[in-house]
Amino acid sequence: MPAILCDLDGVLYQGDSAIRGAAEVVDWLSEKQIPHLFLTNTTSRPRSALVAKLARFGIDTQENNFLTPPLAASQLLLAQNRRRLALFVPTATCDEFSAFDISEHDSAEIDAVVVGDLAEQWNFTRLNSCFNLLMQNPQAILVALGMTRYWRSSAGLQLDAGPFVKALEYATGRAAVVTGKPAAGFYQAAIDRLGQHDHIYMIGDDIHGDIKAAQAVGLTALLVRTGKFTNADLQLDVVPDAVLTSIADLPSWWRAHTN
Ligand SMILES: [Mg+2]
Repeated sequence: MPAILCDLDGVLYQGDSAIRGAAEVVDWLSEKQIPHLFLTNTTSRPRSALVAKLARFGIDTQENNFLTPPLAASQLLLAQNRRRLALFVPTATCDEFSAFDISEHDSAEIDAVVVGDLAEQWNFTRLNSCFNLLMQNPQAILVALGMTRYWRSSAGLQLDAGPFVKALEYATGRAAVVTGKPAAGFYQAAIDRLGQHDHIYMIGDDIHGDIKAAQAVGLTALLVRTGKFTNADLQLDVVPDAVLTSIADLPSWWRAHTN
């Protein structure tokens, strides 16, 4: 049985409304029992909040159908038996790490430092203790819940996690393991979570973060003409394996191209 990975923003919904037909396609995935995961780079909300958000759009799904950067990080750390963590993530994200031993001491022995978008909670002291924990624990890895450079808040452009992770990489000389799109590690976490399948399809509206990144790890990538899609995306050196008008076309495409 083939499986599906699907982006959320721009594929199932756009701004404050659902993409037409998205709810029916998600019902179709459940009815046909097609293994699927929704991938998102959102780190500020737990999966329960994502389920609630989709429900407001009339889309019915469950928590275990999502893969978020905190969950991918948690999966990766468990697989490597790295149990002692120092978390530099928003409070809402901490729940995904409840299975770990969380340390809050500056001189702690730890196996990993996990960095997310702390926004206004960043300051010199906090960034410096993150740096010192890495220096004191040479065996520890630096895990980044995404490398987004900035985003647009209501108050204007705002730094995301990426610049802080870069500062730590520069200071420590250590490369971060990134568990958000477009990092290969995030797609690998999704593949691992789906289990064994003869074919995995990725559906997205971002020619780079969804299509190019998925193809780079050997997946078949379907671009939708919704969300951030523009016709210029079809003139690049990235060639999607298929282009759909929207997610609503998935069932008919699926019947014609899979068996
Ligand atoms: Mg998108």
